[in-house]
Amino acid sequence: MLLAGDVGGTKTLLGLFERGEPRPRHVASRVYPTQEFDSFTAILDAFAHDVGAGIAIDAVAAGVAGPIVDRRARLTNIAWDVSAAEIARRLDTPRIALLNDLEAMAYSVGVLDGGELVVLHRGERRPNGNAAVIAAGTGLGQAYLHFINGRLLPVASEGGHADFAARTDREFELARMLRELYGRAEVEQVLSGPGLVNLHRFTHSDRACEAVSGLAPADQPPAIAEAALSRSCANCAEALEMFVEAYGAEAGNLGLRGVATAGVFIGGGIAPKILPALQDGRFMAAYLAKAPMMDLVAAMPVHVIVNPSAGLLGAAVAAQTLA
Ligand SMILES: [Zn+2]
Repeated sequence: MLLAGDVGGTKTLLGLFERGEPRPRHVASRVYPTQEFDSFTAILDAFAHDVGAGIAIDAVAAGVAGPIVDRRARLTNIAWDVSAAEIARRLDTPRIALLNDLEAMAYSVGVLDGGELVVLHRGERRPNGNAAVIAAGTGLGQAYLHFINGRLLPVASEGGHADFAARTDREFELARMLRELYGRAEVEQVLSGPGLVNLHRFTHSDRACEAVSGLAPADQPPAIAEAALSRSCANCAEALEMFVEAYGAEAGNLGLRGVATAGVFIGGGIAPKILPALQDGRFMAAYLAKAPMMDLVAAMPVHVIVNPSAGLLGAAVAAQTLA
């Protein structure tokens, strides 16, 4: 049996999968609130209790929202870290892969079916080309899939913390606001749930907004998106428009950096919730505005991943490559 994990600052998904080529078969999975546990081992124990202890695990792969250094992952805002050695001791297997969470999601790209993807742009897919994944959610993740020796090999990045590349006068003003707030303007401070809250602050200036009044910061992004999609607040609508355009532009940047002629994939929790806004033309217009490289980005297919467990599935694919 394969054990897959998707460890985030808010929630942790664990799943059991059986081997299956190319796609491992899902057997059972559970979600746990990460902050309520004092170690990753404690979550593994809870999972063993919930799905039945004593199952032999052949290989483990877990995607973790943070950089992996020396087979150890540190999570933002969580007091404990995740180490391969700790998992090896607990589960009695040497076959362990600790991955960046987007690297794990990237492993799912090769096994997703048509129902788990929404086409934003058909392009002309090159089967022997690279691919890339970008995912806005609690933070912004980016990963590349390099085509090496006949297969796509996921490679992690911390590209979400790279600089925000402003393109329009409004975006330059936004970058100035972010620099004043944070010292520098990271692309994650625009393209994430907290990023949408920053955009809301920018488009509303000091104007009150009914959509978010009384809401905790963590509850504001879906409320802003809702107010924008229903057109109940013009400033929320502008915030979401800026979000969508910046998302398209950054997806194009990622496609260029990775020469992703096999496709650019949009993952993460936000995209499926704002699908109508991603399909209104703004995202693709910003994505394609890469002269003199427009023909190159236009050839890259662009898909939204709508399987909410793609990260867990990808971890299972990675575990299968070890077993
Ligand atoms: Zn508003």
